[in-house]
Amino acid sequence: MSTGILTIDLDAVAANWRALDAMTACETAAVVKADGYGLGAGKMARALHKAGARKFFVAAAEEGAQVRQALGPNPEICIFSGHCAGDTDMLSDLHLTPMINSPRQLKRHLDAMPGRPFGIQLDTGMNRLGMELTEWASIAETALNAKPMLVMSHLACADEPDHPMNAQQLTQFQLMTDGIDVPRSLAATGGILLGSDYHFDLCRPGVGLYGGFPFEQAAPVVQLDIPIIQTREVLAGESVGYSNTWIAPRDSKIATLSAGYADGLLRSLSDNVTLWSGSSPCPLRGRVSMDLLTVDVTDLDEVPSHLSLLTPDQGVDDLAEIAGTIGYEILTSMGPRYRRRYGPIGPAE
Ligand SMILES: *Cc1c(COP(=O)(O)O)cnc(C)c1O
Repeated sequence: MSTGILTIDLDAVAANWRALDAMTACETAAVVKADGYGLGAGKMARALHKAGARKFFVAAAEEGAQVRQALGPNPEICIFSGHCAGDTDMLSDLHLTPMINSPRQLKRHLDAMPGRPFGIQLDTGMNRLGMELTEWASIAETALNAKPMLVMSHLACADEPDHPMNAQQLTQFQLMTDGIDVPRSLAATGGILLGSDYHFDLCRPGVGLYGGFPFEQAAPVVQLDIPIIQTREVLAGESVGYSNTWIAPRDSKIATLSAGYADGLLRSLSDNVTLWSGSSPCPLRGRVSMDLLTVDVTDLDEVPSHLSLLTPDQGVDDLAEIAGTIGYEILTSMGPRYRRRYGPIGPAE
């Protein structure tokens, strides 16, 4: 077995959902888009359902199909992209609930699936998805007569609590929705942490469930152990890897590990990240290749079978900072070659 092992702690995912749920007085849904942030949408959805979630959100109807299969008929599965051309059969057959984003989508939905559930997505300033004030004003009466199950919007800067955009969007959301008799939702993970003004009737956390920033108190969820497939002695002055970016300053022992940028280990980690054998640091040397990493194990007494890149102490946000990105991208880039194992995270096998 030469592929990396991604261990995913379902109890930690459930604990994170419960912790976020306890921060609000409203319902807490769960966002499981992008294959459950790379961790397996079906497994995440089942663990979160067991923890108590009854509404689930994904980006596209196709993702909803996978979650429906995992959850069975009852939980509500909502689709952020709404009711797109070609979606009707899938939405209808699988009882998926589109979040309608435009007057055109509303017409499509009411024509094709009259009486079937839908939500409304409003744009309160992000300029990405949802209806703006004038569009909403033009169809609000029609939409409200058809009894949407939810009216929602999304915050652009919720991970920066002091950003003035948060209050601006809150005001705009209130302006667009005050007085209507429909449950409302504005907050994802960041919005939950902004406080009760942002909670309304339903919150929709994603990244915090999977242990990511901005939910700093999250329990760690993932561990990544990568097998060593070869070791070699490198003499002082020899180079390692593509473009000779690392020259050994001393006689060294270099381990070659079976994972690379094709597995989501961004090339910008090159020469810059530490892997771990228990508590012993092993620095990455040279470039990240497509399928391989070269790691300095000179200071280990014994070469283990695996080294760990993600651990309870070195999480997705730590890697993101080194790679110049965000934890979301690290999580959702983790490739299909890893064996996903569901269980407690701890030392490598
Ligand atoms: C992705 C997404 C969420 C979840 O956001 P997190 O920051 O991962 O909690 C919620 N709502 C919408 C509209 C989203 O696109």
